[in-house]
Amino acid sequence: MKAIIFGVANERSLAWAIAQNLHQQSFELAFTYGSPNLERRVMPLAESVGSKIVLPCDVYKNEEMDAVTAKISETWGTLDCLVHSVAMADRTDLEGRFVDTSLAGFQLAMNISVYSLLALTKRFEPMLEKSGNGSVLTLSYYGAQKVVPNYNVMGVAKAALESSVRYLAYDLGPKKIRVNAISAGPVKTLAASGIRDFRAQLEGAGQRTPLRENIDGADVGALAGFLASPAARHITGSTMYVDSGANIMGSF
Ligand code: NAD
Repeated sequence: MKAIIFGVANERSLAWAIAQNLHQQSFELAFTYGSPNLERRVMPLAESVGSKIVLPCDVYKNEEMDAVTAKISETWGTLDCLVHSVAMADRTDLEGRFVDTSLAGFQLAMNISVYSLLALTKRFEPMLEKSGNGSVLTLSYYGAQKVVPNYNVMGVAKAALESSVRYLAYDLGPKKIRVNAISAGPVKTLAASGIRDFRAQLEGAGQRTPLRENIDGADVGALAGFLASPAARHITGSTMYVDSGANIMGSF
């Protein structure tokens, strides 16, 4: 089984937790990094799980996505799992009022955090079809469903992402390609550090969720491992929560 992972920035990335779980399940892995300065961080992680394919891929650049697709097609010819763990917004849009979001900020968040899922899925569609149990996974957050202060434009982007998962699942179902989202509770990562008052969200989740505990990357990895496996062969179009039950609460 073969998987390509988009979104490892460092060892705290949720994408890395997913990669580790897939590695335990004997997946062969390929990695990409979103900007040149991340190569030196991603390379040793990839090597530690025996990966021989590590490529640059800024999802804003068609030519980089094309080059990655061509390399995987040449080297593997087939793909079982595509992990999309990529999101970006202007830091200034992750605080204050959502109504103040600029058009440029809105487009940036939607382009990098949502459209890239379509752009990558379309490119890898023929290889995922060859798998017979192709699986696309992306990462969401509860701010897609309800207002989480400061999450702002990223909440709107995640709502679009979860909807995109449903439409993609419908399009690709006949080819036995499944598309699902994992809605994770807060985990301290590089991306999360850009959200104002993120620490308060972490503390809230630790104290007020039904399980009174924060999740960690391994929880996300375990759910991803399940969704990528044949055991989940009839699960598609879903957004599954791994959040200590936070999403069932009226307020938390
Ligand atoms: P992270 O910073 O480790 O990962 C975000 C990744 O997005 C980075 O690897 C970064 O390089 C990549 N990226 C940004 N712009 C890119 C571009 N133009 N091209 C290619 N890659 C680009 O943080 P994370 O928390 O692991 O985030 C991964 C996903 O999980 C995101 O979609 C995030 O919204 C989601 N998520 C995170 C949490 C959390 O609390 N950490 C909770 C729910 C969902």
